[in-house]
Amino acid sequence: MVAAVHAAPPATAPIVWVQAGHEGPREPGYTAQTGAGSGPFGTEVGFTTRLAARVVVRLRAAGVDARRTPGRVTPLGARGAVFISLHHDAEGGRAGIGHAIAAAGENWYHGEGFGSPSPRPYADSAPHRAATTVSPAVERRSRDLAHRLAATIGPLRARSPGASGAFGGVEPRDGNVRMTRFYGFYRTRAAARVLLEAGAPGVDDGFLRRVDPIAVAVSAAISRHLRGRGLLR
Ligand SMILES: [Zn+2]
Repeated sequence: MVAAVHAAPPATAPIVWVQAGHEGPREPGYTAQTGAGSGPFGTEVGFTTRLAARVVVRLRAAGVDARRTPGRVTPLGARGAVFISLHHDAEGGRAGIGHAIAAAGENWYHGEGFGSPSPRPYADSAPHRAATTVSPAVERRSRDLAHRLAATIGPLRARSPGASGAFGGVEPRDGNVRMTRFYGFYRTRAAARVLLEAGAPGVDDGFLRRVDPIAVAVSAAISRHLRGRGLLR
């Protein structure tokens, strides 16, 4: 019997959580972080929601149980093989890939997400929901996925028109804390946790506008990572 195109994935399919960065409803403590107000679709959310939808379609076609989550990680603390948060950086920023690191915690901000990130709460920080932990094994798997993403996104950017900004590759563990101590890494129990900054609005608009090739690159990297773990044929 031939499986229907839209059949549900088998119960053994690996679960991949795909977060459209900044999509409402947003995470308590970070609700003021609405994302860049520019880019090829006018806002970062215009990009992240389009990309998330296409990544989910591609992953499901590859036999993955891909599921969406908005900025408020839903459900909280869910298990899975992968959690990926999709973004394009702020104006003047650069493309790159962050991954969860062990023995660290999430960023705190003033109020609901203003000001500079801090490893400790400010007196006026809004409450956060309960945090999960990042073990050394989670960091190792996250780094593997981050490098696989760099291996598909980097070459795609290099050969694509309109990608004029810089690509930072995999963010070092002592690098940009917005990418290494991202709250989403602490609201999931997924075995690998990464964040993609696909580009910077303005200089990369021509690249970011073509969402489909980016979705192909993202889903290919995730599929290779899952195959490397023996979770996908
Ligand atoms: Zn963002």
